[in-house]
Amino acid sequence: MLLADAAAIAEDLLAEHLPGAGWGFAFDRATRRAGACDWSRHRITVSRHLVEGADEEELRQVLLHEVAHALAGHRAAHGPRWRATAARIGYTGSRLHERPIAEHRATWLGTCPQGHEHSRFRRPTTPLSCGRCSRRFSQAALITWRRRDPGAAPAEAGRGGGTAA
Ligand SMILES: [Zn+2]
Ligand SMILES: [Zn+2]
Repeated sequence: MLLADAAAIAEDLLAEHLPGAGWGFAFDRATRRAGACDWSRHRITVSRHLVEGADEEELRQVLLHEVAHALAGHRAAHGPRWRATAARIGYTGSRLHERPIAEHRATWLGTCPQGHEHSRFRRPTTPLSCGRCSRRFSQAALITWRRRDPGAAPAEAGRGGGTAA
């Protein structure tokens, strides 16, 4: 789905469940987990790579998982308090989130003639052009795809205390 649509859904969800609590939403570039909850910055983030391959329900589940972390507190981890909170707000245990983290990784990398990079979980079945070069489909901005070298993916560095996925 589009990042703009995902951001709108996230803002609505935060307004519903964390009203006036000062929490914000942002995208991150993680490849090994779907979302994260950062208590020190009061911020919930979702991987932009995930969003590209997710539908709305998958995205909502990832967001609810993280909102439950924000509500339950850092110490709750994935324990009973977090589980009760998550269930109350509608988290059903997303298949996407429970999958091994390696599968969150986008496996297809694309480059447009201007060098803008794109990623997808599956090889696109129709020709795609670069949205940064052209808002409409453009043969001149066609993206060429290559499979990611599994060994070449940089490790996602942990951000230390105060953050949970
Ligand atoms: Zn481009
Ligand atoms: Zn979690």
